Parts: sequence; C-alpha cells; structure tokens
Amino acid sequence: MDALQNVLEQAQENGVAVGHFNIADLVSLKAVFGAAQELKVPVIVGVSEGEREFIGVRQIAVLVQSLREEFDFPIFLNADHTHSLAKAVEAARAGFDSIVFDLSALPFEENVRQTKEAIGALKAINPNILVEGEIGDIGTGSEIHEKAPDLSKGLTNPGEAKEFVQSTGIDILAPAVGNMHGMLKSMVQGETKKHLDIARITQIKGAVRIPLTLHGGSGTDDEDLRKAIAAGINIVHINTELRVAWRRGLEEGLAKLPNEVTPYKILPFAVEAVKQVTLSRLRLFNNLL
Ligand SMILES: [Zn+2]
Repeated sequence: MDALQNVLEQAQENGVAVGHFNIADLVSLKAVFGAAQELKVPVIVGVSEGEREFIGVRQIAVLVQSLREEFDFPIFLNADHTHSLAKAVEAARAGFDSIVFDLSALPFEENVRQTKEAIGALKAINPNILVEGEIGDIGTGSEIHEKAPDLSKGLTNPGEAKEFVQSTGIDILAPAVGNMHGMLKSMVQGETKKHLDIARITQIKGAVRIPLTLHGGSGTDDEDLRKAIAAGINIVHINTELRVAWRRGLEEGLAKLPNEVTPYKILPFAVEAVKQVTLSRLRLFNNLL
C-alpha cells in the first residue's frame, strides 16, 4: 500500500486532489469509504479534536486501519486541526497518517517555533507521518454561520508562506485563499457559493512547492475548485456539507419509519445521504465528471 506522501505526489502529477472528509461516527465513515471504494480513488478521513473525542482516538485509528487492510484500499486518517502537542502526540501514537498542527491563531514567530518543535516530536514517533502547518485566517467551526466573517485581512501571503515552510520543515501547507470553515445559510440553500483567490494559490504553490490543502471546501463554486486543483491544491477538506447531509438523511429515515427503533434500519438513510455528497465531491476532485 502506498504511503500518503506517494498518493499526494501522484495527485499532483495527475492534476487531481485527494478528498478529505470529516467524520464523527460509523455512519459517515461507511459513507465516505463506500463512495471512495465505488470510484476507486484514494481518500482521507479527518477527525478534529472534537470529532475524535466523540469517536475515540485509538478507536477511529483501528477502524480506518481495518478498512485499509481488509480491502487493500488507500484510505488514510488525518488528525484535523490539532491545537496542542499533547493531542498531536496522542494521534501519532495511535497510528494516524497525518496531523494538521494548527497554531495559526498565534503570532507568526511563535507558530514557526512551536510547529518546528512539534514536527521533531511527531517524526520521532513515526518518521512517515505527514505534518501540515497553517498560516492565515480561515475561520473556525464547520457549522452554519449567520454572517460571513471578514477573512480578507487573513489571506496567506506567498512570501510568508515560503518562510513558514522553510523554517518549520512542514510536509503540507494549509493556506488562506478565500476559503473558510463552515457555510452560510444561503450556501446551504444553494443560493450563494464561496469563491477562491486562484492567482494567490498559484503564487503560493510556486513559492513553497509542497502539497497544499484547501480547508473549508464546503459550499465552494465547482469551477473555482477545479481551478484551485489545477493551480496546485492537492487535498480538499469537506465537512459541513457532510454534516448537513447526515442530518437530512437521519431526519428522512426517522420520518419514513416513524415506529422503527432498530438503528441499522434507520441509519442507512443517513449513510446514503452522506455517500451521495461524498461521491459528488470525489468525482469533481478526481476529474471523473
Ligand atoms: Zn479545516
């Protein structure tokens, strides 16, 4: 089985991106894996600190590993937005393939110092683990927001990105290029879309020449996503769209089976809803449309 690093290099070569989908339960994991398996494309499952607190750090590691081994399938596990070294070490010890070490809220110099230190500690646990660093502001919370936050001042500057990559030694960079976490109500209703600063992505890619991750991909214009991938984005994160589908699927199951109490009869509605969204995004990221 190829390591995640090889999968990212292959994606860059092929002009595609690897889909990263956040999950917090077996429903979403089944849906994401089922979609990737159907399309025969590699996939990354992400768990934020909150998501892994719910599902269990060691438990999700074993679940993903069991799928990888039983089906000989390139499914990888990422510790999304990890804000402390202790949590990062916990994930590395559990066998995660990558860690988003997110100290983007700290001043630049402090972000550099602590990220560099974390990389040393994490690579000592697993030399193959990939560490993603973040600079700039992409907002917080994969939720439905009432108002659009002003993230224009927090866009990643290509020069700063280069300095950050060179002085930390990170494997992957998460820039702020017009993306943001969560969705606005109007985006959930399909009335508005997020737009990306494609020129900035091209500049950052040229400056850093390492894999780039687009966070907060939910609700982004499809054409912008295609252009972003062509400009050098190698991983796209989708969370909120999956959460919306999960809830709608669950509500559908409960409405259709008002007297049912058996979880494995109700929950397939949620699996199917999440799977459809995952399929649609994976097709786009892998040029399978
Ligand atoms: Zn994110």
